[in-house]
Amino acid sequence: MRRLLIAGNWKMNLGPADTYRILEQLSSRSLDNLSQTDVLVTPPYVSLPAASEFLGKTPVQIGGQNVHHAESGAYTGEISASMLTELGCSHVLVGHSERRAYFRETDLLARKKTEQAVQSGLHVILCVGENLEQRQAGNHHIVVMQQVRSVLAQLPECTPANLSIAYEPIWAVGTGETATPEQAQQMHQLIRKLVSDLWNQEDAEKLTIIYGGSMKPENASALLHEPDVDGGLIGGASLHAGIFYELIKIAETVKK
Ligand code: PEP
Repeated sequence: MRRLLIAGNWKMNLGPADTYRILEQLSSRSLDNLSQTDVLVTPPYVSLPAASEFLGKTPVQIGGQNVHHAESGAYTGEISASMLTELGCSHVLVGHSERRAYFRETDLLARKKTEQAVQSGLHVILCVGENLEQRQAGNHHIVVMQQVRSVLAQLPECTPANLSIAYEPIWAVGTGETATPEQAQQMHQLIRKLVSDLWNQEDAEKLTIIYGGSMKPENASALLHEPDVDGGLIGGASLHAGIFYELIKIAETVKK
């Protein structure tokens, strides 16, 4: 049985003081006996030291929102994988749709970043997803399969232990629109099938595939009940301790 992952992507929100406050609020709730749910937050870089103070005191793990593909060097404004691990990160997001849209990140860059992050011991959450135009044209499966293939087919070192996938239809990220549970399940099932072809069936079964796109307490249960939806990557709803906690509790009640 796969564990569920509830991951909060804070984007460019919550500086160090707010990070401390929200993690204190979260840790005052009972998070110690989670039976099937892993919890992660990805604060902005400057808030990682504040977040790392809670490591070990709560089950909340921390991750970076992005990483550079080189080990070190003359890349002004960038952050390396080893810097993330030094700050206590276990995870990193790669290829988030906002990175692809606003910073022109490509599948090739996602592959290079994944390679560097995995080599440095980070667990990569590879984000994939189609835009509205691609869905309306009926190309959403082709687009997402290409995004997954271009990273996984080239990196034999990736396994379910160091890589998860977040399916995030762009038309649902930060828009209030959500994919229906059926739409999410259909894509997650196709991703798992592709991974089975690229890796093998056993590892594909172990792979964590989470859904992202306006997940909130009102729609989380139906999405998480789908057999191939193993959790959520949550933006807006992760910025409030109470709402994020509700999502964690919902994940705990889902029988897979
Ligand atoms: C995200 O940032 O990955 C995301 C899914 O955002 P939201 O939940 O706000 O749509």
